[in-house]
Amino acid sequence: MNYRINEIFETLQGEGVFTGVPAIFVRLQGCPVGCPWCDTQHTWNTDADKQVAVAELAKKTAADDRWAELSADDIVAWFERNGYRAKHVVITGGEPAMFDLQPLAEVLEKRGYRLQIETSGTFPLQVSAATWVTLSPKLDMPGGYLVQPENMRRANEIKHPIAMQKHIDALDQLLQQYPVADDVVISLQPISQRPRATELAIATCIERGWRLSVQMHKYLNIE
Ligand code: SF4
Repeated sequence: MNYRINEIFETLQGEGVFTGVPAIFVRLQGCPVGCPWCDTQHTWNTDADKQVAVAELAKKTAADDRWAELSADDIVAWFERNGYRAKHVVITGGEPAMFDLQPLAEVLEKRGYRLQIETSGTFPLQVSAATWVTLSPKLDMPGGYLVQPENMRRANEIKHPIAMQKHIDALDQLLQQYPVADDVVISLQPISQRPRATELAIATCIERGWRLSVQMHKYLNIE
């Protein structure tokens, strides 16, 4: 099984429950969901003419739409070649749930890594039992994909991007419609660090006992 990889890098997780945890990010290429405010639009397309060799991908210094195919063993080799020390691996995208992530989890978990997937919840999840699922529900997006009920049940964390009250209302409706685990963590994430969105998220988190996710990496200007 090969994975379309846009980039792999080590940094701190900037969002959600694992904020501040050293992490290796594996960004997969391809997403048809079409969120207008998406900050990784360069991962949407899988054009064949953008496929490059692994060695060329490794030289990337800025975000772009080039990608390479790597197996799970190639990914481990990348970690080792770069001397990464983090043991938390964030599988992100793009939409990583378009891939069967179980072979990758098998290889990484055997080596002591913990996996987290960041997903829109719109594709069937193919993850290991131990994978931490962060579901950021994307509702009414131009791609027309629907959040799948079984993904809501499986989620360890619901991390919802908001800009205005209607986004919170939409989350409420989703939570009424689809059951989630008793111990699920729900957090609100202001879109693009907008002050009004941040104020609304803070007030709602205090009222509901939810958590605030502030995209720490954007405040720190790190990857
Ligand atoms: S699901 Fe994620 S990667 Fe896809 S368009 Fe939305 S924000 Fe971007």
